[in-house]
Amino acid sequence: MIRGALAAVAAWSGRVLVDAVLPPRCLVCRGGVEAQGALCVECWSGLDFIAGPVCAACGLPFAFEIGPGAVCGACAARPPRFDRARAALVYGETSRDLILGLKHGDRLEMAPTLARWLARPGAALIAEADLVAPVPLHRFRLLARRHNQAALIAAALPGTRTKLAPDLLIRRRRTPSQGGLLARERRRNVAGAFAVRAAWRPQVAGKRILLVDDVHTTGATLEACARVLKRAGAAGVDALTVARVVRPSDALI
Ligand SMILES: [Zn+2]
Ligand SMILES: [Zn+2]
Repeated sequence: MIRGALAAVAAWSGRVLVDAVLPPRCLVCRGGVEAQGALCVECWSGLDFIAGPVCAACGLPFAFEIGPGAVCGACAARPPRFDRARAALVYGETSRDLILGLKHGDRLEMAPTLARWLARPGAALIAEADLVAPVPLHRFRLLARRHNQAALIAAALPGTRTKLAPDLLIRRRRTPSQGGLLARERRRNVAGAFAVRAAWRPQVAGKRILLVDDVHTTGATLEACARVLKRAGAAGVDALTVARVVRPSDALI
């Protein structure tokens, strides 16, 4: 009882200390907000959360409910290598700023907020996963950025602590930026870029793997990862991303 109260006081005073040292700022525009890890009203209203029915495979939002298991035209024509992909947000201006802040701006404090938004769309995927693996960066890019944003989000996901496999995948070669490339070009760009780390191979066979990344653009990167995992014997591969491109014109960035 006393210990609990002391812990609460310690947590509270720690929070007060953090708030006193760093006044809480909006994660997107850096304007003043009430609490750490929050967004201002304007930026919040710029976010488009995916809450309705989606393609059972790629997670593309549907305008109306079609029925359980329904897939979009693209997935019907060419089923993706992963089983299910889900995202918290439609990729747009505000979510782009948010993700770029995490990727390039060393705004590590936003990873728990983004991970929290993934709890609902990713609930089934997280619960059913045996291992949770971030999409890796090439080591040179990791050196330049100092952190892998996908790994930060994966580590902050609720309920994945015992499932984390941060170094399960490796990026074997540097791939040119995917910006401006079409789906087919993106698939060629990342073909053979990933591998399952030898030490993890025995643990992948027969397991469900959950991939984590920041943005699902055409799915080329997620598919390249899914392919090597399935070749290594994974029973299933799902993918969870903070945002997902819905309008194809947004993919050309
Ligand atoms: Zn803001
Ligand atoms: Zn689909």
